[in-house]
Amino acid sequence: APATRCAPRCAAAAGPVSVRAEISYVMIKPDGVQRGLVGEIISRFERKGFKLVGLKLFQCTREIAEEHYKDLSSKPFFPALVEYILSGPVVCMVWEGEGVVKSARKLIGATNPLESEPGTIRGDFAVQVGRNVVHGSDSVENGERETALWFGKDGLVAWEPTITPWLIE
Ligand code: ADP
Repeated sequence: APATRCAPRCAAAAGPVSVRAEISYVMIKPDGVQRGLVGEIISRFERKGFKLVGLKLFQCTREIAEEHYKDLSSKPFFPALVEYILSGPVVCMVWEGEGVVKSARKLIGATNPLESEPGTIRGDFAVQVGRNVVHGSDSVENGERETALWFGKDGLVAWEPTITPWLIE
C-alpha cells in the first residue's frame, strides 16, 4: 500500500499530498521516564506494527510546552501541566501508519487513568490525570502540528522496515 509508505518529509518524492502517511506525535512524559517505562511504552507501539520515524530524549523548554498545550491555556491546571512537562526529560516519538492517530489513543487509554481500560498504557501504569505517563495526538492535524513543533522540518527519518509485507498486504 504505497499510501502508507511515505511521511510528509518525503511527500515531494511520493507525489500528491493525498498519499501522505498518517503520523502521530507520542510523548513519554517525565513521570514515564522517571519510572522506567520507556522500553515498555515503545514496545507496545512496535508490537502493534506502527513504524517509528522520530525518536529523542529531550529536556523540553517552557516555550515548547506552552505551545504544545496552548489549547488548554485557559484551564486552571495549565500552569501545573506545564511544570509537569518541564519537570524532567521526555521521550518524543513520531509513529507512522494507517489510522495511527486513533489507534495510538486507544493504546494510550482515557485521559483520566482511573477510567482507562486495563491493557492500555494509562490503564496499566497510572492513577492520576496529572501524572498520566504519555501523550498522543488527538487528531491527524495535531499529529502534523505537534511533530513540526517537537521535531522541526528535518527531524524525522525515512526508512522502510523489511517486515512491512508481513504487516500490510
Ligand atoms: P489527553 O492528553 O488525553 O489528550 P487533554 O488534551 O484533555 O488529554 O489534556 C492534556 C493533558 O493535560 C492530560 O494528558 C493531563 O496530563 C492534563 N490534564 C487534563 N485534564 C486535567 C485535569 N483535570 N487536572 C490535571 N491535569 C489535567
